[in-house]
Amino acid sequence: MKPKPMGPIPSGYAAIDGELAIGGRTASELVEIAGRTPCFVYSKVHLDQRVSDLRSAMPERLGINYAVKANPFAPVIEHMAGLVDGFDIASAGELEMVKAAGIDPARVSFAGPGKRDEELEAAISAGVTLNCESEGEAHRALGIAERIGKAPRIAIRVNPDFELKGSGMKMGGGAKPFGVDADRVPALAREVISAGAEWRGLHIFTGSQALNPEALIEAQSNVLNCAARLASDIGAPLHKLNMGGGFGIPYFSGDAPLDITAIGGALGERFEALPDSLAATDLCIELGRYLVGEAGVYLTRIVDRKESHGVTYLITDGGLHHQLAASGNFGTVVRRNYPVAIATRFGTSPEEVANVVGCLCTPLDRLADNAYLPIADVGELVAVFCAGAYGASASPANFLGQGPAAEILV
Ligand SMILES: *Cc1c(COP(=O)(O)O)cnc(C)c1O
Repeated sequence: MKPKPMGPIPSGYAAIDGELAIGGRTASELVEIAGRTPCFVYSKVHLDQRVSDLRSAMPERLGINYAVKANPFAPVIEHMAGLVDGFDIASAGELEMVKAAGIDPARVSFAGPGKRDEELEAAISAGVTLNCESEGEAHRALGIAERIGKAPRIAIRVNPDFELKGSGMKMGGGAKPFGVDADRVPALAREVISAGAEWRGLHIFTGSQALNPEALIEAQSNVLNCAARLASDIGAPLHKLNMGGGFGIPYFSGDAPLDITAIGGALGERFEALPDSLAATDLCIELGRYLVGEAGVYLTRIVDRKESHGVTYLITDGGLHHQLAASGNFGTVVRRNYPVAIATRFGTSPEEVANVVGCLCTPLDRLADNAYLPIADVGELVAVFCAGAYGASASPANFLGQGPAAEILV
């Protein structure tokens, strides 16, 4: 069987006693701490390193926000609170999570195309900035604010006329459920301001999971041009411009890490020559997977090893119910292998081609196809890397009655 390539194992993972180690502990020790398999292990060292590398590459003026939906595990949110400037949430549930982490609501903004009245009220009461996604939503927010007697903090999410090229998920350009079409933003902004809202500024998100620095540089440049034009049409300064994110991580064979030095350099040049309308604006980017994706590993135990028509299967106690994206069922057309390793034989030379599958009764439940791996037995541990974002919270944990994986931050 010809092996199918796997994605690159992120940097910063070493072996201790022949096992994958995270934060100085072996995979077996980590499973003991977590109490069971499958489990997600998130690494503080990786989170710290990622944010510090990013800060060194980006202009000092640029704020960094964390998009909570990428990984809402409470200890991760609490840890990120000491690292990033702001938090982007997408529901009242995430609002509760950032409040529970003790994060000042003034650092939080709330985007999402279907905010319910109760969610708007909770956000306005807390003092969170609403990134309004439509005229209708802005009107509902103003009505709720008047009823509860509190000025809402309002920004407008713009549906721009451009998009992030090569982006995994397109969220700008043409008809979209997200944001207000750019040409209608000035009128709505003026209305919101004259209704007595606290005017915060604009949010322009253009896409996700881009690995091409040129595409990100172009998108950021377009965002700044668009914001400057809208700000002068509105006739009021922007306190804040959330420039979106889109920084990707390498998941698959052939993917290379993003060149953040190039992006930071280009952004620095733009910041040197900002138009007057943006001169005093707080500028930030919002990132999810780039901050947390490579800091997480999913550990699952091999419960059976079998052959079928000459093909070897390593059957694990995990699967797509925790790792929908790695299984290839979350926004991909062709299934490709994430980086996967035998955690209990980390650094050992590969000797066989095997299929790593989950425990669910569906052929969709695959973790690695035709992976070239060291020979592993029942009881050993498999690691799926790049599991820090859109894993635990973006997979159908209750499918087939399996329930959630354990999660730990070390
Ligand atoms: C999902 C989302 C993000 C985070 O995306 P990543 O690809 O994880 O960086 C940021 N902003 C908005 C508006 C989003 O919807």
